[in-house]
Amino acid sequence: MSKLLFEKNVPGSNAFSLPPCDVPEQDIAIPAKFLRQTEMALPELSEVEVVRHYMALSHQAYGVDDGLYPLGSCTMKYNPKINEWAVRLPGWSCLHPLQAPETVQGALELMYETERMLCEIGGMDAFTLQPAAGAHGEMTGVMIIKAYHQHRKDERRKKILVPDSAHGTNPATAHVMGYQVVEVKSNHRGLVDLDDLQAKMNDEVAGLMLTNPNTLGLFEEDIEDIARIVHEDGGLLYYDGANLNAIMGVARPGDMGFDVVHYNLHKTFSTPHGGGGPGSGPVGVKSFLSDFLPQPVLIKEKDGYRLDEDRPLAIGKIHSFYGNFAVVVKAYAYIKALGSAGIREACQYAVLNANYLRCKLKDYYEIPYDRLCKHEFVATGRWQMEDNGVSTLDIAKRLIDFGYHPPTVYFPLIIKEAMMLEPTETESKQRLDDFIAVMQEIAREAREEPRQVLEAPHNTPVLRVDEVQAARNPVVRYDKS
Ligand SMILES: *Cc1c(COP(=O)(O)O)cnc(C)c1O
Repeated sequence: MSKLLFEKNVPGSNAFSLPPCDVPEQDIAIPAKFLRQTEMALPELSEVEVVRHYMALSHQAYGVDDGLYPLGSCTMKYNPKINEWAVRLPGWSCLHPLQAPETVQGALELMYETERMLCEIGGMDAFTLQPAAGAHGEMTGVMIIKAYHQHRKDERRKKILVPDSAHGTNPATAHVMGYQVVEVKSNHRGLVDLDDLQAKMNDEVAGLMLTNPNTLGLFEEDIEDIARIVHEDGGLLYYDGANLNAIMGVARPGDMGFDVVHYNLHKTFSTPHGGGGPGSGPVGVKSFLSDFLPQPVLIKEKDGYRLDEDRPLAIGKIHSFYGNFAVVVKAYAYIKALGSAGIREACQYAVLNANYLRCKLKDYYEIPYDRLCKHEFVATGRWQMEDNGVSTLDIAKRLIDFGYHPPTVYFPLIIKEAMMLEPTETESKQRLDDFIAVMQEIAREAREEPRQVLEAPHNTPVLRVDEVQAARNPVVRYDKS
């Protein structure tokens, strides 16, 4: 473990030098109760020591710029550096959110064009860029669904249907919005069970939340039947677009019958994520729902762009100012750099890479749904568990020793010992082969020398952490005593 800054303390050092004060000092009496009674316990260090400290910490972290990051369901795709150049341009980075709209027409134009491109990619009619993440987009989308039913005085709808393979944010969103969550079963092929859907769909259901391809990386082939069943009983279809990377440029949720969608710009459109954001989860709707979009709504007029705040049916405001504008600039740069052919190609390579990996690993790890997948697939550590007591968690830890970020593990919940792999489109065949060789080696170790895997990781600064303790009882504060 590296030392904390406090433990590196060198009394008398400092890392700043302030210019002389150029305004008259004021003699303001601060009430005694606000005055500090003891010295502030800050470490004293020179600039060079502070820089070295944080450099050392950064070397212990792992990101998409370090290597393959096969974290399924998260689309940890490469972020081209030109996006960073674009967002740092002073014309964007020096704007203030309180500037008058007529002084930020360029920014509004970029937002408007991004909305139009997102409409085109998804087959939707209108978008809002306000939501700050996928989960926030879900909340916005379900608020729109709720507002739609309420506006029609259709008050019976108290339920939202969610497949058992769904990402946890889907049922959480429905619950937070006051709906009763009803789970729809998956069939033996890992897809929505149409009979179960039909049985649970009725005029008390506000809508179905669905990811396509689903969290198993499988395309919901019956999507038109699903849409028909939900619509026939007056429900709406919500598209969780976290997996849009797998179909962008090839198929569109709007054409499949979805009424409301969210995208995760920080997944599909290559804006960085992890570490808590900032992200962006724009929400798109079909035209019959556009009046319910949160305000302000961006409007293009003859003499420029305007933010419309006067929308009686709007669900309200769901983010301050313009949403996470910088994230939108990066997504815009990404889409423009690729163009429509490039967007399609990125999707096709993501799917090709996932299928290559699946085929090369299937003799070594169980693949519960072993058929053509989209951008990701689920393998398991079940063989290793049953034969040698090596769990998926052990395999994930062992990958760290070989310099890889582990895949998503124990998700989706309906599959035992699941590991969910998503290589993304930017990995070459050579780098995929390197990873495959490591996965095969770990499978051999699990058979022949299981302790190597059971005791992994062997060469990280921290070995196995007590994850339950860390989550329940996080220690995030330095205690000097
Ligand atoms: C990532 C993800 C979400 C949530 O998105 P955030 O941007 O992390 O809030 C929802 N659904 C699925 C399927 C996801 O993969």
